[in-house]
Amino acid sequence: MVDVIVVGGGHAGCESALATARLGLETVLFSLDKNWIASMPCNPSIGGPAKGVVVREIDALGGQMGISADATALQFKMLNTTKGPGVRSLRVQSDKIAYKKYMQNVLANQKNLTVREAVVEKVLANDNKIEGVLLQSGEIVKCKTLILTTGTYMNSKVMVSDHITYEGPDHQKTTKNLSQSLRDLGFKTFRLKTGTPARIKTDSIDFSCAQLEPGNDEAEAFSYQTERIAEIKEQIPCYLIYTQPLTHKIIKENLNKSSMYSGVVEGVGPRYCPSIEDKIVRFADKERHQIFLEPESLSLDTTYVQGFSTSMPYDIQEQMLRSLPGFKDCVIEKYAYAIEYDAIDPLQLKPTLETKLIEGLFTAGQINGTSGYEEAAGQGLIAGINAASKLLGKKPLVLRRDEAYIGVMIDDLVTKGTKEPYRLLTSRAEYRLLLRHDNADQRLTEYGRYYGLISDERYERYKNKLSDLQKYKDILMDSKLSIENQLASYLCEKGYSDSKGSINAYELIRRPNIESKVILSILGINIDDKLARQLDIEIKYEGYIAKAKREAANLIRIEKQQLSPDIDYSKIDNLSLEARQKLNEVKPLTLGQASRISGVNPSDIITLQIYLKQEKKDGKEA
Ligand SMILES: Cc1cc2nc3c(=O)[nH]c(=O)nc-3n(C[C@H](O)[C@H](O)[C@H](O)COP(=O)(O)OP(=O)(O)OC[C@H]3O[C@@H](n4cnc5c(N)ncnc54)[C@H](O)[C@@H]3O)c2cc1C
Repeated sequence: MVDVIVVGGGHAGCESALATARLGLETVLFSLDKNWIASMPCNPSIGGPAKGVVVREIDALGGQMGISADATALQFKMLNTTKGPGVRSLRVQSDKIAYKKYMQNVLANQKNLTVREAVVEKVLANDNKIEGVLLQSGEIVKCKTLILTTGTYMNSKVMVSDHITYEGPDHQKTTKNLSQSLRDLGFKTFRLKTGTPARIKTDSIDFSCAQLEPGNDEAEAFSYQTERIAEIKEQIPCYLIYTQPLTHKIIKENLNKSSMYSGVVEGVGPRYCPSIEDKIVRFADKERHQIFLEPESLSLDTTYVQGFSTSMPYDIQEQMLRSLPGFKDCVIEKYAYAIEYDAIDPLQLKPTLETKLIEGLFTAGQINGTSGYEEAAGQGLIAGINAASKLLGKKPLVLRRDEAYIGVMIDDLVTKGTKEPYRLLTSRAEYRLLLRHDNADQRLTEYGRYYGLISDERYERYKNKLSDLQKYKDILMDSKLSIENQLASYLCEKGYSDSKGSINAYELIRRPNIESKVILSILGINIDDKLARQLDIEIKYEGYIAKAKREAANLIRIEKQQLSPDIDYSKIDNLSLEARQKLNEVKPLTLGQASRISGVNPSDIITLQIYLKQEKKDGKEA
């Protein structure tokens, strides 16, 4: 009997297994292929809008993805630097070979963690409590908690036009029986689909036809522990090209040959990551579509054609690719394909990612209906922390929508469910000004510390940073500056040539383009760039952030109103019929969660508040 079994060595499984092993629990991770652990079957990149902030959140909680991504990045790019801090996020071009080797090495050297190569065929449970797994070999491995992170592999099939192969990504195995064993236990599963583009031999592309897309030198990293990142001159660029009228013509003339449009595909694909044929159909008015050419690895001579995923037959793929600028003589190293797989309906999960049906069984990642390495890793970490907390007698971790993108994602999944691969977007977060790249540590380090994933040394460094931030804010608030000499010429340079007399330093920094680093240096104080950028954001956006916090206060208040999962909503008068059905299906744990279930109206929430008050008056637990 082991403490924790993790099925899957993908981005979710790695975070789950590292979390439970680092918290001292004997953990076994099963993967279909050890050499494929932490692989990137699709885009060789980590981060981007919302996703980049998730990686920061994983790092602030004590997870691994941020550290591994920084150490194996080919390019760093801070996105939306000209926009507000609520939408800025980091994206790295990853060396996908180096990334998986780095992660595999971390797993191999992790105390309390055993990595095994085996096919898990069945989930074993008794009396709605998890017991263990049955392997294809016939071996039974018992456990106290089980975390399923099977990604795109459950009952998967690969499709190229009407040609179907029953396998996982990149010719990996698939398993039919595992999702059947979940259905036998009463779980609802559904079919999802995603796709990946071709990989082209890099030196067969004429990049003179493409626009250079370099990284930028913002010196930002995912991990608070990363001291140095590669200088811009050491970074590998991407390139940008566009589809051509001929590309659109070829696709339109052969649409019926695509798996998507020939009826071969049953599963629902990602709305925000469509195949090229899908884009041509859905955005028929668009004359051209962006295609990014991304390096995959220093140890591979292949280029990833981002934005060109398809399930067209090989001969049509060749025509489509050769119609692109610089691709006339391209050599296709790997053809594009679509993949369909089983996922479970996330409405069957508690906000802790434990299943409602089987106690001690947790699920994380693509199996829950999401798409993306970052989304998977965020769930994996939460499932790991909560599986461990269950065994260590600690309160579970449920992040609120105003605390983390991870909280927004999980709440959306377990409260609203999903019918298509769920991808995190900044627009999903109503409090995105609070969920920033820069403040992930202030939002989540205390949680990481409470659960035991943040070391003393790291915690002390974090506390010192907070006190430094406050110290400099106090100095700026108490400093009045005469506008003369260095300050006068700096203000002139920044377009404030009419400034005269004296001004409070803190007030000065509120002005656009005025940097706290310069003002503090005028006061004879030197601080590092990162801390200065933090100060600038906190001072310049102070009003907006305070307003967002006030708005979140209402959420926090109704999140505190607990609801028992045992309430029978069909018995509460004045609730609408739809609300009774939906509330009984989801069994929300808080009034806040109830308020976000589609079909539950504000009047139903008022009815529930009255019901809770009455229950309290009658001295009953609601
Ligand atoms: C073809 C393709 C295209 C994609 N396109 C995109 C995209 O465009 N955008 C995007 O955001 N994401 C895309 N993804 C998804 C992305 O790869 C996943 O979101 C991410 O890898 C999910 O991580 P995960 O940990 O949930 O699962 P995975 O990374 O899929 O890992 C699953 C793990 O489970 C193991 N496993 C599965 N079944 C068993 C079993 N029975 N026994 C033992 N081990 C088992 C596997 O060996 C593997 O280690 C794509 C994936 C594929 C395959």
